[in-house]
Parts: sequence; C-alpha cells; structure tokens
Amino acid sequence: MAELPVSLGEALAAARGRIPASEARMFLREVTGCSAAQVAAYPERALSAEQAARYAGLLERRAAGEPVAYLLGEREFYGRSFRVSPAVLIPRPETELIVDLVKARVAPGTAPAVLDLGTGSGALAVTLALEIPAARVTAVDLSPAALEVARGNAAALGAQLRFIESDWFAAVGMAQFDFIVSNPPYIVDDDPHLAEGDVRFEPRSALASGRSGLDDLTRIAAAAPAFLAPGGWLLMEHGYDQAEAVSALLGAAGFAAVESARDLAGIERVSLGRYPLRGVDAGVRQA
Ligand code: GLN
Repeated sequence: MAELPVSLGEALAAARGRIPASEARMFLREVTGCSAAQVAAYPERALSAEQAARYAGLLERRAAGEPVAYLLGEREFYGRSFRVSPAVLIPRPETELIVDLVKARVAPGTAPAVLDLGTGSGALAVTLALEIPAARVTAVDLSPAALEVARGNAAALGAQLRFIESDWFAAVGMAQFDFIVSNPPYIVDDDPHLAEGDVRFEPRSALASGRSGLDDLTRIAAAAPAFLAPGGWLLMEHGYDQAEAVSALLGAAGFAAVESARDLAGIERVSLGRYPLRGVDAGVRQA
C-alpha cells in the first residue's frame, strides 16, 4: 500500500481487490475498535497514524496469505474465544462435533476422566472441561510451545486441567480414561492441500501424517485400549475420505459400537468406538 489510509472509508477501499471486505472490517475493528456498523456509518472518521500503519501491516500480511486467526491472535471454538499462535493448529468448526459426541455419552452424575491427545490450542480439552464441569481433563501435546498456548487458554477461560508434554501416550503413565479424544494430523504427506491457504502457515506436525495420512490415527487406535476404563470411548477426527479406514482400525484394535459421525457439511469427520466392558457384561452394554 503506497499511502496509508487516513479514514475508515479509505481503509476499506485500500483492501478492495486484495482481501475480502469482511476481513478488512475485522482488521479495522481490531485496530480502531469500530464495529462494521460504525465503519459503514462514519466512513470519514479519521485513523491515527499508528492505527493506519497497523491496519496496513495486517492488510499486507493477509494479502500475502497469513491466516486471519494468527493475525488477530484468536479464533472462536464452541462459542468461546481461544488465543492462537503459529505454534498451534487453528481450531476448526468441524472439531466441535467431538464435543457434542462426548457430551451425549457422559452418563449423568458421573465425573468422567477425559484425555485429549495433541491438544494444540487446547480448544477441545478446555471446552470439554467447561462443558462437562465434573470432568477431569488431561491434555497432551508433544510441543512445549503448544502447551503454553493451551495453558494460557485454560487460565483465561477458567478451566482446570492437567497438561502433559508427551508423544501421544508415551508420558501419560498408568491411567485410565472414560473418553480419549484426538484431532491428530491426518493429511497425506504430499497432499497439495498442504501448499494452499491457511494450512501453509500452520504447524506441519499438526497436519501431515505419513504416506496414507493414517500414521497417527493408527498409533492412537492401537494404543488407546490400554488407557481406557472398561466401556470407555475413543473419538478421533479424520479426513473426509478416511471414515472407512479409521473404522477398520478401531475394529482391529478391539473396539465395539464403531460408528462415524458427520460434521455440519455432511462429511463423515469423526469415528468412534467403545472399548468393550470386560467380564460378564462384555458384549451386552455396548450400545
Ligand atoms: N481439517 C484440517 C484441514 O484439512 C486438518 C486438521 C488435521 O490434520 N487434524 O485443513
């Protein structure tokens, strides 16, 4: 941008053809505090030199492809605002499905133990802790930088949970959970999608998982039974075309009641199974 915009209206005009107007309005709000309605009503309102420079910086970086969530430092998940940085995957609406599926399966009056593998921003773990107040939630990530972000979100949103730096289950220790949830990396290593849009700026370790995209889903499904209480559930997010493969992984690991649930776009996005109750009840109370 050659010259800095001097007014709200000029700022919007400077964005035209470069970034969507909706994003320009978000940046204006971030920099000036003015809502979209105010921007529309008072286009002549002046920007300070500092506001203009900050806005121009955001516009440049967005035009170069940086995700809005990283530029604003936040993204909403399940109705709450989470801080995000390039150390973590940007929470996506389809992941909210896992929260709904867990909530629907918590037996009333119980205090379930919940484990979130690869917590990233903490979106899933913190949301589950807040939505199921009796739950005892443990969140794991391999990345210390991600755990910092997740800890910050838990503190800011008033959620109590335990954090462990761990390569999936490696450092979890002797523990049994009623629910294990994960949004692991599941994209094929050489998927062209990795070179497009927001994902270019996200941690590759949160996205790509081997030649089939199934490396981490396979590891988690195979290891999870040892960490599940009898009758406990494993729920994993996966790619649009992986429901069948993930269901097969769950079946091979001994899970029962295996099913795949669709996200709001109608895509089978989460597969889940229940680890059979042992003893005389086995095979009976699995619905
Ligand atoms: N759904 C995300 C995407 O395709 C990937 C998230 C993930 O790998 N867990 O951009």
